[in-house]
Amino acid sequence: MSFRNFKMVDYVVFGRGAFNQLDDILAPRRKADAPMIFLVDHFFEGKPLVNRIPLRGKDKIIFADVTYEPKTTQVDALANELKESFGTVSGIIGIGGGSTMDLAKAVSLMMNNPGSSADYQGWDLVKFPGVYKAGIPTLSGTGAEVSRTTVLTGPTRKLGMNSDFTPFDQIVLDPELTKDAPVNQRFYTGMDCYIHCIESLEGTYLNEFSKSYGEKALELCQKVFVTKDHWDDESDDQLMMASYAGGMSIAYSQVGVAHAVSYGLSYLLGTKHGIGNCIVMNHLEEYYPAGVKEFKYMVEKNKIDIPQGICKGLTDEQFDVMINVSLGMKPLWENALGKDWEKIMTREKLRALYERL
Ligand code: NAD
Ligand code: ZN
Repeated sequence: MSFRNFKMVDYVVFGRGAFNQLDDILAPRRKADAPMIFLVDHFFEGKPLVNRIPLRGKDKIIFADVTYEPKTTQVDALANELKESFGTVSGIIGIGGGSTMDLAKAVSLMMNNPGSSADYQGWDLVKFPGVYKAGIPTLSGTGAEVSRTTVLTGPTRKLGMNSDFTPFDQIVLDPELTKDAPVNQRFYTGMDCYIHCIESLEGTYLNEFSKSYGEKALELCQKVFVTKDHWDDESDDQLMMASYAGGMSIAYSQVGVAHAVSYGLSYLLGTKHGIGNCIVMNHLEEYYPAGVKEFKYMVEKNKIDIPQGICKGLTDEQFDVMINVSLGMKPLWENALGKDWEKIMTREKLRALYERL
């Protein structure tokens, strides 16, 4: 038996207003004539946060279009543009939700690795460390701030660049940055964390490391979405730490049925990660009875709409595409259902589940 020896984020700062320390944090990372690049979620274009970015010298702000989840072509275009303009850069600072953070991680890696990011979709394919990279979440839930992957849609698959070079060198956890997130978006991304916890805690890969973080993250999600009757600053603090702990929990276990099924939706229909997980979780009583019951309670209590009937009218071929993508996520199914998962989750059973969504 060999245990995973995993690379973590090097530096973490947490606190309301921690964003103001960014200039000091970046100062020792600056190299002569190489700018810092701030990759910022396009939501913040024209917003006050942009004026707080500590620009020096040739530093540049690039607004990231996250209308769709990150693509390998988008990563390659950004990295090539930076190489052409500057040769090299001192660092890439991603400010935004999971999509922007994933883009920042991937662009950092592609500054120092040849070819296309599509060549590195998989496990431990990245050859060289990227340039310095920092992540600053403005939405809480994905755990992308701590993970060793960056999820990209490529020409043939949706798969992360999973490697020891992928985690950020620095993260800045400033809950103030999440306070204006729209209620629905905050819920969908927050539920990504809740679902990570359920899938990790109910999975066969569970160990005490994952359990400790997973239980804490679950408790924080419950405080925010179940117990409290209004959203306040403390809720932003709690959900940000839930996301961190949830990410740490799955780092040493795996996600499960909701994610495996949701990947199929995302591949065929472009359904985004947070909402896709919610659409699936709504129908998973058989696998996570207590978690789904509580999930439905949170949906109702927080007055959230979960889309229904999104697979209506799809062809057999389209169902097959989703089933193939989903069943390809072997570790997720094994974590969820055990070594004999293929006998439990047959194609027919999965088809019936997709038809219900
Ligand atoms: P997101 O980054 O896709 O952003 C969703 C929407 O919220 C966007 O329109 C964005 O502009 C907006 N937004 C972001 N911050 C805001 C704020 N403070 N106020 C108002 N609007 C704001 O959403 P997400 O759920 O954080 O991330 C989903 C992405 O993360 C997917 O691409 C998914 O694949 C990825 N992901 C990665 C990992 C990982 O480990 N790397 C894990 C889970 C999910
Ligand atoms: Zn997730």
